[in-house]
Order: sequence, then structure tokens, then C-alpha cells
Amino acid sequence: MKRTLYLKLLLGYVIFGILAFVTIATFTSRLTLNYIEEDTISSMYRESNLLSASYASNYYNGSMTLADITSQLQSVATYLDADIWLIGSKGNILINTDSDSVSSRLIKDFDISAFGSNYYQKGDFFHTFSEKTISVFSPVTINYKVRGYLLIHKPVSDLVGFKDAFLNISYLTLAIIFLCAFVMLGLFTFTVYLPIRKITQAAREYSEGNFETKINIHSNDEMGYLAGSINYMAAELSTLEEDQRKFIANVSHDFRSPLTSIKGYIEAIMDGTIPHEMQDKYLNIILFETERLNKLTQGMLELNKYGSKGSMLDVNSFDINHTIKMVIQSFEGTCKKKRISFELILTGQTSFVSADMSKIQQVLYNLIDNAIKFSNMDSSITIETTEKNDKVFISVKDTGIGIPKDSIKKIWERFYKTDLSRGKDKRGTGLGLAIVKEIISAHNENINVISTEGVGTEFIFTLPMTKEENPL
Ligand code: ATP
Ligand code: MG
Repeated sequence: MKRTLYLKLLLGYVIFGILAFVTIATFTSRLTLNYIEEDTISSMYRESNLLSASYASNYYNGSMTLADITSQLQSVATYLDADIWLIGSKGNILINTDSDSVSSRLIKDFDISAFGSNYYQKGDFFHTFSEKTISVFSPVTINYKVRGYLLIHKPVSDLVGFKDAFLNISYLTLAIIFLCAFVMLGLFTFTVYLPIRKITQAAREYSEGNFETKINIHSNDEMGYLAGSINYMAAELSTLEEDQRKFIANVSHDFRSPLTSIKGYIEAIMDGTIPHEMQDKYLNIILFETERLNKLTQGMLELNKYGSKGSMLDVNSFDINHTIKMVIQSFEGTCKKKRISFELILTGQTSFVSADMSKIQQVLYNLIDNAIKFSNMDSSITIETTEKNDKVFISVKDTGIGIPKDSIKKIWERFYKTDLSRGKDKRGTGLGLAIVKEIISAHNENINVISTEGVGTEFIFTLPMTKEENPL
């Protein structure tokens, strides 16, 4: 494709040159010659009229001699660069300013009616000239009687020479235009064609799955902007591809490892490798792994519900303070084991929000579960609610292991777990926060995280505030 475009341009350029040249050589040339001929004939006619009325008449009425008139007409002929004749009505030449041109003194077969209604003739003038000549005549009339004719002759070749000189200017102009077009072509090559070729090459690389290729165009125009956008798109596509690969790898890994251990332990129990008295311990591990698989499947099903259409929410007005307290209760056992305490800083006695209560419970459950899992022994978790601009801000803050800076963006992805957390929590699926994010987005609200590795993490989300008296 790339070569064709350039060839087309070059071909267009050459065709333009040839057409322009042919047009000047034929059309312009003919029009110019016609114009010069018409103009010359009319000025010759004006001159012949003038001369016949002045000098020629003077001869016939005897006020000037033939010699005097001849010398006068000769200077006019030189000035006009033409031959001037004075002939009698029968065709006998009385004056010829260029006596070398015709030797005979009588024009054979002279017949003025051959001119018809025209006052000029183009040809050899009754076989007196060897080349094509324009002859213009004016009758010399004395006392209403035609006594002779004044003729001015000019060879057509003189006019052709004039036309050629004029055409040379046109050719020169065309050459300059052609040169300008060539400069334009060069400019176009550098500013449009070469960038397009680079973009096309990159697009081919992308279609083969090679998203590493970068388009090196940094011009501050549409091309530069296009290249920038395509580079950005390629980068996004490459991360998307990478994400998908990771997603599949994570799903397969998370399903395979519990299944492998379940299979291993069951085989060992069946073939007696694990003695009868030890079976309970391993059956418990199998139960643990089965629960994990169950949780994984539940999580995936849950996430699947928040597809493109989102899930149907059962929005109600409820007291978020009360909900927080209820959720905390279910963690009492775990907290006791890790000696973790809760600090509640809640606005007022009650704080009503409009949302899907069971879904918000799930959000709180996931956030508090994370906070406990990634907190150290003997620490405290702070849960705070604040009201601002018709919103209730709910924050869950821990002083645990924190999230590394480059993982912060990724924690919302399905199956994502930071390296720090893997050792601490083998049961985790990495789906909890993905579900949290979907639920908050389904409410058209926001959730943010602030975390420092080794210091702690705080999750803050908003819910629309409502009045207790107006339950939805
Ligand atoms: P699950 O929620 O299914 O039990 P999980 O807790 O590992 O699994 P998410 O809740 O989605 O998965 O959290 C994803 C990852 O984000 C966690 O594995 C952990 O690395 C990090 N993370 C989340 N909350 C915290 C926190 N409070 N402190 C430190 N790291 C956290
Ligand atoms: Mg979690």
C-alpha cells in the first residue's frame, strides 16, 4: 500500500506536468496566434485606411510626386515592419516599399472581388508571395471613383515568431509552477507521507500482536497527535492483553492448587498412606480447601452479576452506624484471637443513608476482613463516619502491613493480591475488593484508598445521606 500511494502522487505530478505542457503547446498556442492575427489585421487595416486617405490620394490629385510618396511610405513600412503597395485598379504596381520582393510590375489575375466582403486575405496574394502572407487593402477613392488600392502585406511567419516568444514566457511560468509543485511534493513527503508510512508499519506490527513498537513522530500537528494517540492505544492494548493473561493464569492457579491438594490427600487416605488416626486432620484440610473453592466460585458468580448492565439494587434508607456495629460483631472471634480492637468514631447517634443494605454490609465485611487479615497482633482498627455535602463518608483504617505504591492501582483487579499479603493470607481469593468496587460503582458512589507500606491502610467510600423520616 505504502508504495502505491507515493507512486500515485508521483504519477499525478508527472501527468499534471505533461497535461499543462500539452495545453500550452496546443490550446494556448492556437488561441494566442488567433488573437495576435486579429489584432495585427485590425491595426494593419487602420494604417491602410489612413495611408490611402492621405498619401495615396495626394498622388492621384497631383499634390505629391510618386517618388515623394514612395519615400514616405518606405519609412512607414519600416516602422510597421511590413510591405506597403500602391496599385492601380487593374493590378499594376505603382509603389512597392520592398522592390526586391516582387519583380513584376503587374499582378497577374488581379481581381479585387476575390477578397469578397473581407478587407484582408491570408495566402500568397495572387501567387506573388512564396510564403503565407496577410494582405490588407483599402481602396483609394477620388471623386467617388476607385483609382487604386493601398495594400499592406505582412508574412504570417512574423506573427508566429511573436507568438512563440510569448509562449516561451508561458513555458517558463509553467516550469516555475512545476518546480513549486515539486517543492510541495517534497514537503508533503516529509510531513504527511513518511509519517503515514511509519504509522502503517506500526499498525502492521500491532496486528501481529507486537505492541512494543513505538511510532516516533513528535511533530506538533495532527500527525503528531495521531501518532501519540496510537502509541497510547497500543500501550493500553498491551496492558489489556497482559491483564487478560494474568487473569487466566490467576483463575487457573487459584482453582488448581486447592484441587491438587484435595486430590492428593484423598488418594493418600484411600491407599492408606495416611493412617486412620491422622485422617481427621487431613479431612479438615480438605474441608478448608473445599471452602476456599466454594468462596472462589461464589466470588466469581457475585462479580458476574455486575456485568455491563449492573446488578439490581434494593435501595432502602438505613442507619449506617447500626450496620457497622452489626458487621463488627461477626468479627469478634477473629479479633479476640489477634487481640485486635475496634475504635468507632461515628457521627451522632444515627446516620441514615440510602443504599442496598445487604450489599453495603458485604462491602463493610470485605473491608474489615482485609483490615483484620493484614493487621498485626495487638493493633486497633478505626471505623469512622462523617457527613459532608449530603454524603456520608465511611472510613476503615488499619495499622497493618500496608500496600506497596505500585500495587495500589491493581488491588481492585480480580484475583490481585500483593506479594506482601500472600504469606499472611492463604485463604484469600483476591476477589473481595473487586466486588467492593462493583457494589460502590453500582450505587454511583466512590471508593478510595490511602496506604503506606508498613504503616497502614485506609479505605474511604461515600453513600448518599438521607433522613430517617423519609425512608425510600
Ligand atoms: P478475599 O477478599 O477473597 O478473601 P483478598 O483479601 O486477598 O481475598 P481483596 O480483598 O480483593 O482480596 O484484596 C486484594 C489485595 O489487596 C489483598 O490480597 C492485599 O494484598 C491487598 N489489601 C487489601 N486490603 C488491604 C489492607 N487493609 N492492608 C494491606 N493490604 C490490603
Ligand atoms: Mg479481602
